[in-house]
Amino acid sequence: MNKNEENAPAAESSTPEAQAGNILLTVSKTEDVRGGKPSASGMQRLALCPGSWQAEAKCPPSGDSADSAMGTRLHKCMETGEMPEDAEEREACEWCMAMEIEFAKTLLDGVETAHCREARWWDKERKFSGQADVVYYNAETGDVLICDYKFGRGEVAPTAHNHQLAALALLAVDNLPSVRKIYVCILQPFASRHPEPRLWDASQADALRNGIYGIIADAETPQAPLTPGEKQCKYCRALATCPAVSLQLRTASVDDITEANWTALTPAQKLQAYDLATLAKRWAARVEELVKTDLKAGTPVDGLTLGKPRKTFKITDPAGAFRKLNSVYPRDFTPELFTSCCTVSLSKLDIPAHRFRKADGMSSNATQSKEWLRKTLAECGSYVESEPAIERLKPTED
Ligand code: SF4
Repeated sequence: MNKNEENAPAAESSTPEAQAGNILLTVSKTEDVRGGKPSASGMQRLALCPGSWQAEAKCPPSGDSADSAMGTRLHKCMETGEMPEDAEEREACEWCMAMEIEFAKTLLDGVETAHCREARWWDKERKFSGQADVVYYNAETGDVLICDYKFGRGEVAPTAHNHQLAALALLAVDNLPSVRKIYVCILQPFASRHPEPRLWDASQADALRNGIYGIIADAETPQAPLTPGEKQCKYCRALATCPAVSLQLRTASVDDITEANWTALTPAQKLQAYDLATLAKRWAARVEELVKTDLKAGTPVDGLTLGKPRKTFKITDPAGAFRKLNSVYPRDFTPELFTSCCTVSLSKLDIPAHRFRKADGMSSNATQSKEWLRKTLAECGSYVESEPAIERLKPTED
């Protein structure tokens, strides 16, 4: 189960109740550590789209994207303490580790050792569970620090409005003795290096509980509304089959987006059009993935079949390839000619460059080694500027 899947309910068993649309909390065919109940990591989506809980329960698990696989791998590294080999990933994990210890020391009066990592907690009424990435706890003062790692580069709900962190804060109250203050914090090394912990006080536990239980109750209502949006639909398993998304895409006409019409739109309407386009892209990608999965499994899709895979030959041993060609045409296949046919991956060079510098006694971190490599190779390459990507402005916190 990847970190995004963890947000979602397990696929339901096809009981008559489920088919009749009466399912609320479902029985999983596979082992479900969440016992068919919502989890803290899915709380943000449930708050934005209450109907997503039941919609996802009707969908099969989705595959692991490259991003979610990386997130799962780096979470594992943080849990076990075995740092990744890749220099950039290692540096990101080391930064998370340094930040959490620094926060723990300052906020929890000198605590330096984690209380637990990736432990699953349940609330006292067993309505939901949650797995905090790491928890620091000062048993003398009752103060707690919970850190949540996000290894994506995309925007996440700010700490002040983050239902996942609020749910984890409530779980701390229910699972640790005499809790007093609870600090929650997002560490997102590839997006922002300025984490801002939020403080909850144990006296706010009732308000927290009411809020979280309210989200769960709304999600469990048989007619829980489906409310599409970029944030909630992004990783939703129901995206391809969601009737609300489909309706929104069908009612938006391409005719509306002529140049003349576009200039008449307000900035807010342009954002709406952009959000819809983003949703449409995600929806298309998910539908394509599902169609491909069906066709590969031999499940028919009317009018579609799988084309023949294209076979391309790829050199996996460039040094061996050079030796072979050079031994046949030593005067022609020179190192210069051969390397002119190769491309060099700077990010792959970063790893040995950093290792050699460390072995050479340099006290440099991965970022400094990267800078050194680019400076050293300045004459052998050039910077290419890409077309700027559209980015969302960060919401300002209260
Ligand atoms: S795809 Fe979007 S609207 Fe549909 S259930 Fe998922 S989050 Fe809700």
